[in-house]
This record gives sequence, C-alpha cells and structure tokens, in this order.
Amino acid sequence: MISVSHESAKAALEAAEARFIANNPLSKKQHELAVGALPGGNTRTLLHTSPFPLTMNQGKGAHVWDEDGHKYLDLVGELTAGLYGHSNPIIRETMLSTFDNVGLSLGSTTVQEHKHASLLCSRFKLKRVRMANTGTEANMHALAGARHYTSRRKVIVFSGGYHGAVFSFPNGKAAPNTVDKDDFVVVPRYNDIGLAVDAIRSTPDLAAVLVEPMQGAGGCIPGSKEFLHAIQDAAHEVGALFILDEVMTSRLAPHGLGFELGLKPDLVTMGKYLGGGLAFGAFGGREEVMAVYDPRVEGSLAHSGTFNNNTLVTSVGYEALKRVFTEEACVKLNERGDGLRERLKQVTKGTKIMFSGRGSLIGVHFVDEAVEVFTCGEDIQGKERRDLRDLFWFEMLEAGYWTTRRGFVALILETEEKELEGFVEAVGKFAERHRDIVAL
Ligand code: PMP
Repeated sequence: MISVSHESAKAALEAAEARFIANNPLSKKQHELAVGALPGGNTRTLLHTSPFPLTMNQGKGAHVWDEDGHKYLDLVGELTAGLYGHSNPIIRETMLSTFDNVGLSLGSTTVQEHKHASLLCSRFKLKRVRMANTGTEANMHALAGARHYTSRRKVIVFSGGYHGAVFSFPNGKAAPNTVDKDDFVVVPRYNDIGLAVDAIRSTPDLAAVLVEPMQGAGGCIPGSKEFLHAIQDAAHEVGALFILDEVMTSRLAPHGLGFELGLKPDLVTMGKYLGGGLAFGAFGGREEVMAVYDPRVEGSLAHSGTFNNNTLVTSVGYEALKRVFTEEACVKLNERGDGLRERLKQVTKGTKIMFSGRGSLIGVHFVDEAVEVFTCGEDIQGKERRDLRDLFWFEMLEAGYWTTRRGFVALILETEEKELEGFVEAVGKFAERHRDIVAL
C-alpha cells in the first residue's frame, strides 16, 4: 500500500514537473532540436534529465543562465572541474596571451609542459607525472603502467567506485561499457577493511588496487583513514600497486587528500580543475613505476595523445594552480564547504534529507529512514527516495540554484558567502514546506 507521505510526494513532484515544463519552453525546444543530431539529444549521459535538460547559454563568475533567461547560482561546479568559476581574469589573460604569443598545436615538446609538470609534482608530492586529456585517460594509462610494471593483470576496485567513462562500478558490478571488464574484481562494500583485505590477499595475478579516497560519483562518501591505509598495506604485501584516484579529491587539501591522510600511493591520477577549465588528466607517482613510460628505455610503454601537452591547457592549468588555487585558497574553500555542510544539516535535522562529503564537495541524499552509519552506498540501498531527490532538484531550480539531479554540490571559488547562505535558507524552506513528506 502506498503511504500518505508517498502519495503527497507524488503529487508535489508532478506539480513541480509541470511548472518546470511551463517555465522552460526554450530549453524544451532546444532538446527537441538536439534529438535530431544526438541520441536522446545528449552527448554526456549525466546531463540528461527527464522530461528534458535545461540548456545553459552563459556562465559568469559563479552564475549560469539558461535559454529561458533564468539565472542560477552554480552549485554544479562542473562536477569539480569548474572550481575557477566562469570568468576568472587570470585564466582569461592566460588563454589570450598563450594564443597571441605562443600559438596552438606546436607539434613539439615545450618549455611550458615541463613547468606545468614540475608544479604538479611539487604540489602533489609526485616524483614524475604524465599528462593526458581526461581523468578517464589518466586512469587507463595508470592501469596499463601498473600492469606493465608488475607483469600482472587483475585490478581491485570498490562498489560505487567511478574512475571514468569506461571504468564505473555501480552496485558491486562493472558497468557494461567497462574496458577489460573481466580484469576487475569489485569489492562489494567501500570502507570495509575485512572484505577489501581478503579480496586483495586472495586475488591471483593482482596488478593494482584502484580507489578514490572519497567516492565522488558514488555519493561523496569519504574513505576512512584506517580503510585506505589497510588497503595500501595489503596491496604492498602482495606486490600490487596502490593507485589513488584523486581526479575529484585533489582539491580537498593543499597536496591532495591522499597526502592529507598520510597515504603513499604508488600512482595518483588527477584531472578536472587542474586544466583550469580545459580538458585535462594526469597520472604520476613513484619514479621507478613511472619509468615504464620512459621512451629512452627499450621495451617501455607508449603513452600517446595529440593533445597531452597542448599549449593552452599547460599554460592555463599552470597559472590557475599557481596563482589562483593556492594552498591557502584551497584550505579556505574547503573550510567554507565544511561550514556549509554543517548549516545544511542543521536546517534539515529530523528529515529524510542527508548530507555527506568533505570540504567543498557535498553529497545530498534522500532516505526513507534515519541512517546511523553511512560508509558505503550499500548502507542506504533500498532506502533511497528518488521522488524526493527529483522534487528537491526541481524546486531548487525554481529558487535559483543549479545543482545536479543526482545530488552533488561542488563549490566554486567565486561564490560569495551570502549566496551560500541563500542556498541554506532555500533548503530550510524546502524542508519546512514539505514537512509532511520529508519528516522522518
Ligand atoms: N575519476 C574520478 C574519481 C572521477 O570523478 C572522474 C570524473 N567524474 C573521472 C575519474 C573521469 O574523469 P573525466 O570525466 O575527465 O574522464
């Protein structure tokens, strides 16, 4: 039997969706055009939302505007890559001066690629680094390197782990499009030391353990220090490499989250904001391991990529990290994120709305009953309320806040404190307005 609260949630959601359709005729029209060239009108699955996605046509500072002229505070933050906002003057100046004084596509090594690589090494405590175009590529090359270095094949990953477009492990299984699917062993729960160590010790031919220090796409679930150290130690015990995927989390502490937690990964993968808003990925770590990619050595691995060292990204990524996202700026932004998460928790106390994450990255969850322990996606399996999540998304849009439908907030540097206060207020009002359906 459907409960009264589910019935009212259904009615509220239908009404919100109807208002969304009425308020966004130009986004709807754009979607109808887009389906003529793109399957489902989409080229990035995450961005598809039913009944149609909002089409944004401008970003300025910390705001974005849609086709119908609505203005939103950008809390999507391009899933962490948009850290610098939409119009940072240093980024603008670097793009223009690179174009004017250096030019694009030199087809050669450049001084700039060394400068960028050196900064990445010193900031993230890596001995050597290589650049790529996406986080997916960074993980792909890190795994190939680990396999070459160990002469082994298998890789342990964790349920809820996301390591790129072709390396995704929802609900304990490799997604259908996973590359080299049969080489992955998926531990069914993140943060479970016993299960992880058993899997590491009992998997023959193990080349690497690949893990996020906080699961990002999996719901902003921080890994405990004990868990991450235990799997690092177990990997080393069996001669496998410990690869830390910091594509999202390197922004959570001045030298990356792994360093903050005292980890010593053999390889680290990165990307997102480190391209200063342009496509970027990187992987690096121990000198002996990275030496598998040294082209001076007979039998080394090739790591190709036309745009790996392109002049724009190596210049913009470098200037942005050096001059904008300084170590101090990093600490400050993450403190602001922690403060925001606490205030959000306060205004939603006693409701089905739950916040997770660390620093400037926040997960928003809707659960049917109080969750005391939330250490992995499995802890809330079967308790999630998609209807409330969708209702929240529609109503946050109406209030002027651009968040991801799945419930993820990534702060950007330019957002002012009073704007975040406005968001807290809007969330509090949502909880108040729908008390009958969100109260625990
Ligand atoms: N690893 C993690 C932890 C990520 O969050 C992502 C992107 N969401 C990737 C890898 C892949 O990065 P990209 O989208 O640049 O390929």
